[in-house]
Amino acid sequence: MQYKSVFTFTSALLLVANVYALEPIHTGTVIVGSGISGLAAALDLNKYGQDVLVLEKMPFLGGTTNLAAQYFVSVNTREHQAAGKVLSVPDYLKRTEKSGRNAANLPRTAQRMYDSQKNVDWLNEKGVGLTRVISDYQLGISDGSSLGSKIMKVLAEKTKEAGIPIMTNAKVVNLIYKNGKVLGVEIEQKGGEKQEVLAKNVVLATGGFNNNQGLIAKYAPEWKGLPTTTAVSATGDGIVLAEKLKAAVKGASEVGLNPSIHSQDGINVSMSAARLEGGIMINLAGKRFCDDYYPDYTKMARQMMAQPEGKSFVIIDDKSMKASKRLQGFLKKGYFVEAPTVAELARKIGVPEKNLEETLKTYGESVRKGKDEAFGRTLNMKTDFTHPPYYASSLLPGTQVSVGGLDVNDFMQCKTIDGKIIPNLYAVGELTYDSGTPHSLWTGRKAAEHILSK
Ligand SMILES: Cc1cc2nc3c(=O)[nH]c(=O)nc-3n(C[C@H](O)[C@H](O)[C@H](O)COP(=O)(O)OP(=O)(O)OC[C@H]3O[C@@H](n4cnc5c(N)ncnc54)[C@H](O)[C@@H]3O)c2cc1C
Repeated sequence: MQYKSVFTFTSALLLVANVYALEPIHTGTVIVGSGISGLAAALDLNKYGQDVLVLEKMPFLGGTTNLAAQYFVSVNTREHQAAGKVLSVPDYLKRTEKSGRNAANLPRTAQRMYDSQKNVDWLNEKGVGLTRVISDYQLGISDGSSLGSKIMKVLAEKTKEAGIPIMTNAKVVNLIYKNGKVLGVEIEQKGGEKQEVLAKNVVLATGGFNNNQGLIAKYAPEWKGLPTTTAVSATGDGIVLAEKLKAAVKGASEVGLNPSIHSQDGINVSMSAARLEGGIMINLAGKRFCDDYYPDYTKMARQMMAQPEGKSFVIIDDKSMKASKRLQGFLKKGYFVEAPTVAELARKIGVPEKNLEETLKTYGESVRKGKDEAFGRTLNMKTDFTHPPYYASSLLPGTQVSVGGLDVNDFMQCKTIDGKIIPNLYAVGELTYDSGTPHSLWTGRKAAEHILSK
């Protein structure tokens, strides 16, 4: 039965009078967003009998998680130990510090990295198959499938099996806040109808903000106008919603850049798999210009922008192509130029033949020696370019993930700009400070753990 209800909220922050055509929905915890962070929280809460509702603004599930390309950061897992690729958490943190990323967030990164095995087990128990050891800090899907689409396929199935309700085309447009507490959310459905969802807890799992040029201009103006590989849904809604309650934002000038965006037919895709599988980067002169697998992507993006015409290419050979289903998919879509010889590849992409031949020969020798004297690359030197055919794809730098986001405590409760907790409001995933599927999974589970402990 539909009826009209009138609610008036008198709080210092919100004073609204709304008329709703639909009855309010009541639930224990409302989760806003159906990526890995939201579904991880939903599955853990459901496992212990909690009433949960997931709201998703898009007609499909998964947001940016669907796009996660290749690797799941984790160290010292059974999988790594079996492959003899062991890296301690302190050594991983030293590398992270060198990359300059998440400088203010290292203690929380450390907690997550010590939970590497728990994260991997949680996914593998559900059938994700994260067993392929890519490097001492990276795991991939056993059969070389794309990481995010496999994770979402499995989590969507598990959510369905568990009977967790999910409303799609349900965009959260306001937080309901009364007497100093969050009491639920207001949603707008596809037809424009508004409805209230009243809940004991609200978990914002809305993802990043790189597809909102207004927020980029406000928080990270250096990168305004760059292409982005993120999902259309990554418009920072959680930040916009929580800022109305004076929520604090932390580290948002730090944007995760992608030094390997291939832009074609109006679509931006991440070619990072090509570098991961051993590819190198060259400029229009057919020469390398940087450590092609340097962990500081901000530095790499600036180096790319400094090349002639701001143009560069990634070059791989058939050994790298065969190692990755993702790259094979890109080849089928026409994102690579292919040639049987290096000289022909150079002609096809318009760089000097001799230079490219010399570049690949020198780099191949570096791989065989295990030392890249020219640029000091140490990671993923997987091919010496002796396996034709050869492939090239044009690259641009752009934004990929949001690093900064809502400031939360160790239980993922949102904080105000005065450092106070906003009661009943949690934020998880890329919406908070840091990014990547392990962070989203771990923070989603942390919020669930705290809600269960209440
Ligand atoms: C090209 C690319 C490659 C990547 N590769 C990797 C990789 O190899 N490894 C890795 O670990 N990470 C990778 N990442 C990062 C990773 O995908 C994300 O950090 C992570 O998946 C984010 O998960 P999330 O649950 O926090 O957000 P999302 O997956 O974005 O989910 C947020 C959801 O919230 C919904 N939503 C937003 N606003 C509202 C609203 N107002 N109302 C209702 N619903 C809303 C969105 O529609 C979306 O479905 C990559 C990212 C990109 C873009």
